[in-house]
Amino acid sequence: MRTLASIQSIHSNEPIPKADAIERLRVLGWWIVAKKGDYVPGDKVVYCEIDSLLPERAEFEFLRASSFKAAQIEGAAVVQRAGFRIKTVKLRGQVSQGICFPLSILPPGTPTEIGSDVSDALGIIKYEPPVAMGMSGRIRGGFPGFLSKTDETRVQVLEPVLLQHKGKTFYQTEKLDGTSFTAFLRDGQFGICSRNLWMDETDDTNLLARVARGIDLEAKLRNLHAKHGFWPAIQGEIIGPGIQKNRYARKLAELHVFNVLNLDTAQLVDHDIGVSLINEAGLIGVPQLGTLVLKHSIDELVALSAGPSVLNPQVPREGIVLRPATEEHDETLGGRLSFKIINPQFLLKFDE
Ligand code: ATP
Ligand code: MN
Repeated sequence: MRTLASIQSIHSNEPIPKADAIERLRVLGWWIVAKKGDYVPGDKVVYCEIDSLLPERAEFEFLRASSFKAAQIEGAAVVQRAGFRIKTVKLRGQVSQGICFPLSILPPGTPTEIGSDVSDALGIIKYEPPVAMGMSGRIRGGFPGFLSKTDETRVQVLEPVLLQHKGKTFYQTEKLDGTSFTAFLRDGQFGICSRNLWMDETDDTNLLARVARGIDLEAKLRNLHAKHGFWPAIQGEIIGPGIQKNRYARKLAELHVFNVLNLDTAQLVDHDIGVSLINEAGLIGVPQLGTLVLKHSIDELVALSAGPSVLNPQVPREGIVLRPATEEHDETLGGRLSFKIINPQFLLKFDE
């Protein structure tokens, strides 16, 4: 689970060229623009990451003009309360991601050790954009226990991981901004899942089911099983009309695969074999951007994440995902070694 608001310390501060009243602060791997002198290196602060939705409370009211988001209502239910949304902004040419507050905003008794998650104490939740239509449909159940939900951690909180894996070769793929999709064939049974749920693959009102049928995904997975002998699953991103503003300007929905799994061993297939299985099955993978030998700082990786999307060079890519050639577990990540670097230019362009 991502930590939105936590106790952190200010690592350093630096001037911003041609700006007298403001400066940039380093917290974790993020840069935040603040009023000069508000904080000095070593100060403990409450740091709120981008995507934080702060509650409507007096101490956050100064954010109303820039950041207020009304509640999201579906029928009679409030699916997300109103509040102030923290997003990526640019001030005097400096990208600013997140916001700092003094510890005095915390309710009495809140733990203040570095790293403590104070999101609940402050009533901070994750801002989620309104869900697209057509993604819903008949649900078969919760996400299957024999699979993991797709997720990637942001590089800005992974400095120890970068140091630990220095010198290792990583594959880079383009991160696509669509909706997560999973399909499996297990003990002869075919199934499809949205990001969080096992959906009915026969329900044609569901976009995911239509995409799966459109590419004959069940037959493709059956072929893989027949040829290689293991029960397979694939995970990927569906992009297209009605999904995340269709930034790639697709006329039809399409699936781009980023994971191939062997369900017999419950393992992800290593990169090269995964790519060849995707091709062999007649599926499309996420765009491959080559390899890099990891020796980069967070800032260098953030700079590398900028660039046009392979799928639509008219728009900046959302970012890149880095993974080693051979799947491995990482202690800090608490899962597979794999992480994302979101392109700040994408966030700025699309106001996120
Ligand atoms: P956050 O965790 O930062 O709050 P989030 O959980 O909404 O954000 P995303 O920002 O969408 O997640 O990033 C993770 C998702 O990116 C994965 O779940 C996957 O669906 C998607 N994704 C798109 N392209 C790729 C890719 N090339 N490799 C891996 N995952 C990808
Ligand atoms: Mn996530």
